[in-house]
Amino acid sequence: MKLLNQTVTAIAPSATLAITSKAAELKAQGIKVCAFAAGEPDFNTPDCIKNACEAALDEHKTRYVAAAGLPELRTALCEKLQAENGISYEPSQVLIANGGKHALAQVFQTLINPGDEVIIPAPFWLSYPEMVRVAGGVPVFVKTSVEDGFLMSPEQLEAAITPKTVAVVMNSPSNPTGMMYTPEQLRAIGEVAIKHDIWVVSDEIYEKMVYGGVEQASMAAFGPEFYDHTITVNGFSKTFAMTGWRLGYAAGPKPFMKALFALQSHLASAPNTFAQWGAIAALKEAGPDVATMVKAFAERRERIYALMSAIPGVKCPKPEGAFYVFPDISSFGMTSLEFAQRLLEEHHVAVVPGVAFGDDTCVRLSYACSMDNIEEGMRRFTAFCASLKK
Ligand SMILES: *Cc1c(COP(=O)(O)O)cnc(C)c1O
Repeated sequence: MKLLNQTVTAIAPSATLAITSKAAELKAQGIKVCAFAAGEPDFNTPDCIKNACEAALDEHKTRYVAAAGLPELRTALCEKLQAENGISYEPSQVLIANGGKHALAQVFQTLINPGDEVIIPAPFWLSYPEMVRVAGGVPVFVKTSVEDGFLMSPEQLEAAITPKTVAVVMNSPSNPTGMMYTPEQLRAIGEVAIKHDIWVVSDEIYEKMVYGGVEQASMAAFGPEFYDHTITVNGFSKTFAMTGWRLGYAAGPKPFMKALFALQSHLASAPNTFAQWGAIAALKEAGPDVATMVKAFAERRERIYALMSAIPGVKCPKPEGAFYVFPDISSFGMTSLEFAQRLLEEHHVAVVPGVAFGDDTCVRLSYACSMDNIEEGMRRFTAFCASLKK
């Protein structure tokens, strides 16, 4: 057999697979599993969005649109980015992709030459390193921990920069930690990027899931130099409970976006046309639905954090955003995978081992689930931890 591409065949299989297949096995046996593993909202897509998509289908909006995305949606996004994020982009600076993930993958393809380095604060969303590698780049990790609230300092960033560095990836609020950078902290990171003339890829997908402790800020809004060094990435999946619609976007300086458009025109042509009509309704009409979902997440966050922080041996900073808690379970003397496997086998609770996100001291729980699941699952989690201390 002819050899396959070395970079692609070297992609690490997801460390979560063992957990999800075991959880499915237990469920098939009729066992009630408390699941905290999902990375998506448990709500349905709001009706106003579905109605707009259905209307688009009825009106035969089923053909190709511009490769960079539906012009009406790009215009609506410019209005959103101006009003909500304080960033001025023209429609010619916005690209709609098949999800935030697809937008990010193409952004890295466009930024990276072979051997270029991209700085990724760890723990990280598990796709960043693989995307960088597939684009020919080298991920460089900056370690953060529960002690520093899982935040990278400007000094840490500066120390990681080499002549080969092209970009740093920022994700605030963060998946998996739920932590956020204050506007001042973000600005200080941006200043380092500007000083060394590297890009900031700012993944703002959880911007709406914030609970009042820290103000959400957009890197590109801090000033012209920040704007010139930033690619803003976002998507519809999390904010509007639209994970299966596959719509995300990227916005940035014109020369960069021109190259990105050309790439997408060959790789994807454009995202789904009628889904994009639904997305316009999301931006214009779904505000009240988003508020309802965020309120539910806020209540669950309070509850799960209260239960988690009461467990002896667990260290857990209070998450400021997204819908995850990321407790440090290292005092129990197990790897994150062992902890997750035993928790699932002995107490039927599914969590994601932190090793999947580049941190073997923690596990990730998503609270995009019912309050009942939180109560019962945390009761079991607490019992498991107590059994380990004996
Ligand atoms: C979910 C997620 C995305 C993108 O999701 P899409 O469904 O592809 O839009 C991007 N970044 C992070 C950190 C995420 O958690």
